[in-house]
Amino acid sequence: MESIRNIIVLTGAGISAESGIDTFRDAGGLWEQHRVEDVATPEGFARDPQLVQRFYDARREAVQQVDPNPAHDALALLDQRWEGELLIVTQNVDDLHERAGASRVLHMHGELLSALCARCETRHKWSESLLGQPACPGCGEKALRPDVVWFGEMPYQMDRIYAALRRADLFVSIGTSGAVYPAAGFVRDAREMGAKTLELNLERSEGSYWFEESRQGRASKLVPEWVAEMLG
Ligand SMILES: [Zn+2]
Repeated sequence: MESIRNIIVLTGAGISAESGIDTFRDAGGLWEQHRVEDVATPEGFARDPQLVQRFYDARREAVQQVDPNPAHDALALLDQRWEGELLIVTQNVDDLHERAGASRVLHMHGELLSALCARCETRHKWSESLLGQPACPGCGEKALRPDVVWFGEMPYQMDRIYAALRRADLFVSIGTSGAVYPAAGFVRDAREMGAKTLELNLERSEGSYWFEESRQGRASKLVPEWVAEMLG
């Protein structure tokens, strides 16, 4: 892996699953017994805000009771030691990358431990319930919602992601099926711009075809192995 300086890593549900975090894809369109359209769309929130706030309150509480696993630890080590550019783009809304010690992390689908004000559009670190309609620390309005990107909403910071893809010498996808756009297109964008591409996933994915190299296995095993190769 000589000549590699700038790395972009995409992580998905597969890396958090080993810490015990479930996602809706595990259960055929249901997420903790709820239909995705009821709890993960703007329409669902408009229809029944209390149900949605209760749902994310439970997720927010659950995420604070699990720990990073060796895959998160290995990426944090890479972040601390890698002297070139590195951006860990995660589709996950947990904070396990940060708690493992990584800092170059971008949450393209938002964060459970953050609240977004629908009125003044400011974000606030949030570890408590949103069900009781607490006031926004920015504007005082009772307009806080989970700071997560729902279906039908634009993922965050796409400009920064594409800028990193353009500069990348290596694109690595970890624990994601390659089925959901725009993330599913990153591998093709990276290749077009000349980057090497590597997939680490539990099984071959819909996107495997696009990668130069695809390794199958648990993230907690594959990621530490790959990071050890990179750090030589
Ligand atoms: Zn506000």
